Amino acid sequence: MGGELDSLDLAVGKRLSVVATANGLTADPQVRNPDGSWRRARPGDGVAEALVALLSTAPEVSEIGSFTLHAWAARVATGERAITVDQTNESVIVGDAAVVKWAAHLQAGPHPAPSRIETLRTNGFRHMPCPWGLITWRSRDGAETLVAGVDEYLPGAVDGWTWAVDLIATAAAGPGAPAHDLASAAADVGTVIAELHAALAVTATVASPADAQRWRTAAAATLDDARAHADPVMRDLLQSRAINEILDGLGGMAGTPLIEGHGDLHVGQVLRHPGGYAVIDFDGNPVLPPAERILPIPAVLDVAGFAQSLTHAAIVARRHHRVDEQALSRVERLARDQFTSSYTTHLAALGHGGLYDPACLRAFRLQQVLREVVYAARHLPRWMYVPEAALSMLLDEGITGGR
Ligand code: ADP
Ligand code: MG
Repeated sequence: MGGELDSLDLAVGKRLSVVATANGLTADPQVRNPDGSWRRARPGDGVAEALVALLSTAPEVSEIGSFTLHAWAARVATGERAITVDQTNESVIVGDAAVVKWAAHLQAGPHPAPSRIETLRTNGFRHMPCPWGLITWRSRDGAETLVAGVDEYLPGAVDGWTWAVDLIATAAAGPGAPAHDLASAAADVGTVIAELHAALAVTATVASPADAQRWRTAAAATLDDARAHADPVMRDLLQSRAINEILDGLGGMAGTPLIEGHGDLHVGQVLRHPGGYAVIDFDGNPVLPPAERILPIPAVLDVAGFAQSLTHAAIVARRHHRVDEQALSRVERLARDQFTSSYTTHLAALGHGGLYDPACLRAFRLQQVLREVVYAARHLPRWMYVPEAALSMLLDEGITGGR
């Protein structure tokens, strides 16, 4: 096939290769042809199955060449099918029991997922698909990155861009529409994120003045970027003096507690399944340079990420469902408040209330909106209506006294 830098034999005629392409490095599941050449494996070729089998007998940690295997479940599964949703990586469901995810674009290491998953596992965090194992690969410069992960498969799992939008649309269907399902879902996720942060409490450190300065500078750069990409309506909104005042708060965060948090939390990372909620994707924030994705974060960044995504889900609901405008802004606020208050209460009940400093909740929500302006402008123009509406809602809150 050409371009192989390294490979890990999984079984006879089945391997995982690190391949250099024009778009960078990729982790390629491969199967050997009868003539001895190799081709990229498809679901059904048994390469994901072979990885699960290899991990089932491997010690908890083992090294094979430049690959490191982490194996946590002595389980096998057979039968492969492709996962059918939109996604950046390629995932294969094995035996309706496990999901094998091959990394489509290798991040420059070190990669945040292995250590975060390990911490969550050893501290008993239950609200994620049970991790079965993962494989990292060490490049010549010595940094380790993730090439494949295996997790428990959760049948019937629905991602938040579906469940949250549906619950918001139901709650905002009319003036008397029932909002309790939305309220209890938001509160349940609040307790899940509190448990996530409590499990990560062992990683706690404190922000330095340099950290605070970095957040303030990064937010200013994102604002400049957003302004450079804005259409006239957006440009007008971005002129608001309130924006700089809100973001200035980030510069005052020295001394705030930090944890090795999720870092890219939004409704799309919280699956709802018959057994409850499950947090996925510990790859860090894709808009940050790789070296920054592994840095610890204030807990409020995760809280802001999820809370703001509820607003974005409400804006999506407004576009795609028949909703009552006034009811919509009421339920959007209700969902956010239920989430944050349940999070705060539960974190305190777990004995880790001190991890959460809410001072910059609005600043981090605003930063998320600005990042989505830039993202939409660069990659997904049809998403722009979301940050545009979100920005004017967030700035209006200041006038009406919301946080
Ligand atoms: P990507 O990085 O490719 O976006 P994700 O890990 O975010 O992949 O997963 C994409 C989608 O795959 C999720 O939204 C969900 O629908 C499904 N999915 C991921 N992990 C699981 C799992 N353990 N069980 C069931 N479905 C899953
Ligand atoms: Mg994802």
